[in-house]
Amino acid sequence: MTARRTLKTADELHAAGLLDDSRLGPARAVAERYTIAVSPAVAALIDRDDPQDPIARQFLPTADELLTTTEERSDPIGDAAHSPVKGIVHRYPDRVLLKAVHVCPVYCRFCFRREVVGPQGDGTLAPDELQAAIAYIREQPEIWEVILTGGDPLVLSPRRLSQIMEMLADIPHVRIVRFHTRVPVVDPDAVGDALIAALKASCKTTYVALHANHPRELSEAARAACARLVDAGIAMVSQTVLLRGVNDDPALLAELMKAFVENRIKPYYLHHPDLAPGTSHFRLEIAEGQRIVADLRGRISGLCQPTYVLDIPGGHGKAVIGESEIHRDGGGYTVRDFRGVEHAYPPRGQDQD
Ligand code: SF4
Repeated sequence: MTARRTLKTADELHAAGLLDDSRLGPARAVAERYTIAVSPAVAALIDRDDPQDPIARQFLPTADELLTTTEERSDPIGDAAHSPVKGIVHRYPDRVLLKAVHVCPVYCRFCFRREVVGPQGDGTLAPDELQAAIAYIREQPEIWEVILTGGDPLVLSPRRLSQIMEMLADIPHVRIVRFHTRVPVVDPDAVGDALIAALKASCKTTYVALHANHPRELSEAARAACARLVDAGIAMVSQTVLLRGVNDDPALLAELMKAFVENRIKPYYLHHPDLAPGTSHFRLEIAEGQRIVADLRGRISGLCQPTYVLDIPGGHGKAVIGESEIHRDGGGYTVRDFRGVEHAYPPRGQDQD
């Protein structure tokens, strides 16, 4: 059965054939705490015959979400500690997050902001709150980049997006505006002329960071949506979350990163999953992630390599957590090549060629 509208309850997912009878009860229990939404484009990607389907795993609620472990926390990356006014997170000197909206077209089961996104979450900034957030950006001359995130900022109407871009256009020290979104994948038809015009409604350099975790998410329609953005002069980068049972496989990740590059999207971040409540079934050990990333080095070109990062709990920002390929060795260094073979640097004796 093909869904024509976004499915928002456990019962709607069950009626659409996406949850079997045994999963309906746990899914109802999950829905009492966390928001559910599966868009028609995502429903069409799910393989209903595969109980381990990696698309289903990202979007369909499971009993695993009912377990909250002791290390998990409601604000896993510490946004609240760096929020001087509502809607702003100012963690690094030269950039801010502007969270204008807290709803998404889909809700990822591993979401790091799952306690604040959704209709019951922090909502959309009221006009006076948006004005206050923009005033904060205007008063901080060190802010070079504004990152619209949320929620998914591309769910805002083109009219509201244009208003935000026009307000940012008046701030000379803001040079870059970046949007973090899943819309080109989960609602590709929304990327039309009106939305693209809104993204360009300022003189700022605009980036779109696409969140996608599996090659199958880059459907023909998603690729076409990305092409419309890039053809319009909007640069694209990617972000992917490393998730157990979804993409914890170097060959599959290599395929995803190559697909990004083929579609003119520069791979940017590979996130280690955050300590969001009810997400322990998605988390790998950091050592497992390091092995996967080391394997990627030998499989794909530098253009395709993402940076493996961890958001340090408590709001301390990102750390690059791939294994170093070089270490001190006496007076010099030992450096590891893409095959895993170690070499002295500077070379010694016959290795000098
Ligand atoms: S799109 Fe982003 S903010 Fe929205 S549910 Fe998914 S991870 Fe969370």
